[in-house]
Amino acid sequence: MIKFATRTINQFMQQQKDLFAHYKQPSIKEDSYITGLKLANSLKGSELVPFIPINGRQVNFYYCGPTVYSNSHLGHARTYLGIDVIRRTLRDYFNYDLLSVMNITDIDDKIINGAKQAKQEFLEFTKVWEKDFFSAMEALNIELPDVITRVSDYVPEIVTFIEKIIANGYAYDSNGSVYFDVQKYLADGHTYPKMRPEMNADLLQEGEGESQANKQSEKRSPNDFALWKASKPEEPKWPSPWGEGRPGWHIECSVMASAILGNPIDLHAGGIDLIFPHHDNSLAQAEACFNCDQWINYFIHLGHLNIADRKMSKSLKNFLTIDEVLKRYTARQIRLNFAIHQYDAVMNYSEEQVEQAISKDKAYQEFFQNTKIYLRESQVTGPQKWTQNDFLISNSLRSTKQVIHAALLKNFDFPTVIDAIDKLINQVNVQIANKTVRAPLIQSVVQYVHFILGLIGLNYQTQNNSSSDIKFIMAEVCSIRDQVKLAARKGEFEAISNIVTQKQFQYEKNLSNGIVDCINQFQQQVLAASQEKNKQQLFQLCDKLRDEQLFELGIKIEDKDKEQASIWKQYDPKELKLEREQQQKLIQQKELIKKKEEEKKKQEELEKLEKAKIHPKDMFLSQLDKYSEFDEKGIPVKDKEGNELSKKQKKVVQELWEKQNKIHNQYLESLKKQQQQQQQ
Ligand SMILES: [Zn+2]
Repeated sequence: MIKFATRTINQFMQQQKDLFAHYKQPSIKEDSYITGLKLANSLKGSELVPFIPINGRQVNFYYCGPTVYSNSHLGHARTYLGIDVIRRTLRDYFNYDLLSVMNITDIDDKIINGAKQAKQEFLEFTKVWEKDFFSAMEALNIELPDVITRVSDYVPEIVTFIEKIIANGYAYDSNGSVYFDVQKYLADGHTYPKMRPEMNADLLQEGEGESQANKQSEKRSPNDFALWKASKPEEPKWPSPWGEGRPGWHIECSVMASAILGNPIDLHAGGIDLIFPHHDNSLAQAEACFNCDQWINYFIHLGHLNIADRKMSKSLKNFLTIDEVLKRYTARQIRLNFAIHQYDAVMNYSEEQVEQAISKDKAYQEFFQNTKIYLRESQVTGPQKWTQNDFLISNSLRSTKQVIHAALLKNFDFPTVIDAIDKLINQVNVQIANKTVRAPLIQSVVQYVHFILGLIGLNYQTQNNSSSDIKFIMAEVCSIRDQVKLAARKGEFEAISNIVTQKQFQYEKNLSNGIVDCINQFQQQVLAASQEKNKQQLFQLCDKLRDEQLFELGIKIEDKDKEQASIWKQYDPKELKLEREQQQKLIQQKELIKKKEEEKKKQEELEKLEKAKIHPKDMFLSQLDKYSEFDEKGIPVKDKEGNELSKKQKKVVQELWEKQNKIHNQYLESLKKQQQQQQQ
């Protein structure tokens, strides 16, 4: 029996394998640049296959851009953030020479309808949404592709491409439209659809990708899909040998990708929802045009995005635009949130789950800040002989590099990469807190972590005022403020006057003068308060400098234990404010939950008390819809029809009565105790 089952599974596996027998892995040549990278290739049923570019280090990469007709949403964020990370990794980690192309679909049914509704000329309409898309990409720190191709710029090339497919015998003109001849294509030994080989004839009819029910009569077979559409009145149109019309959706990508990158192309990417019909049709068209077996060598797909376990859709009202999300979270938090999920797996987005990204972001920020302070305070002129701790961190750094290298080779496994970075950071945090590691080694760790997080597009370097001016001025400010607090605690008001009048800060070049202004103001106010011997106000001024004045400028002062010097950290002021808002929101949420729980508990206790007040004799008397006769204790003996209760029923009501009797007695007992206490 077991043998049989194994054989069946093997047969099944064999069949699955055969479905993708069409795939030909590029051959390794003398100049091949082999890194060991493996990709989940949709042309091989998502199997991990070695990545072998056609020309040495060069990688030609095409990915499907947006159809521009409405706001950019979180689904776009997932796709283009995923692609952005893949591009950065191929280029910066694996050292491939990347040429990437992305299209903009500005001719489409949805666009034509949208432009009509907006009463705009369609190219004017698409410009608005194209701009929206690119500004959302910029806000998320997504790099532009090397080449952007717009469909409306490529119509002549599309016409020539279709003519070639017709000449090769794989498309036909019908009533001013042109269709791809699926039957002819298959009869000549080609494979279609390559990435969805399990598709049956019924499902294939969806290959049109757009509502074309009325066009069935024009087609030779229902599986055929449009390359060129005869235009209806008031629709945008271009001249062609088949009359005025417009390109179908799938043909755009075949034409624009090959116009820039040729044939064959190393790598093609897009959202998983595009795999069929869009990508399979793109493949068939290009292979029919070039009469080749394999136009794309590696096809990768970004996974689905659900919002709170449901598909994102306008009708479900869970449709989140990138603008909305960026009001709540920083680009870094959003990027991290996507990076902690494998790019080609299904991902669920929810507010609770963003919390994880927020806390990671915070941990990374603190790591860079703390190491910066550590490096600021450590002198290379000090002892440099390695201790056990230095060996420990050095070994951790090396093994982390190994783990991350293996993870990146395995289809860009960033969840594992991030785990490894977290572990390394935790170890380093312990060592720098104990001040037990040499600075040069920490410098190496910082550089490596910065490089790896850079692949995810995360940057924790504060650009403004990182000059030596701010280091000097902030060191002085922290020292003055510490001294003021210490003296105020001891009530040494005269000393405070000396502390704040000793040093006057001047405007410095390359320095935000806001810092100098608020420090000067602090000194004056402290002087006045010390002359009035107002201890409380002195402490308030110190808090205000930390929590308001410097905070607004992106500088955070952290107070340590009484005798220890305070430290300062510099952030992007906008990020610092957002962080405070997020923390406050979190506190509010927690308080709200706590309040609700307390209310619930109170309500339950109230209900319990009300129930306890009922005398067992009365508890069944009101249930006349169930019972008609009761004994002297108030226990039912007959049901509402007047029938004697069964043994089992009697047992149940007896038990209920006993229970009520017990809680009622407890209630009377507590009442008695209360009265006694009051009398005392
Ligand atoms: Zn496309």
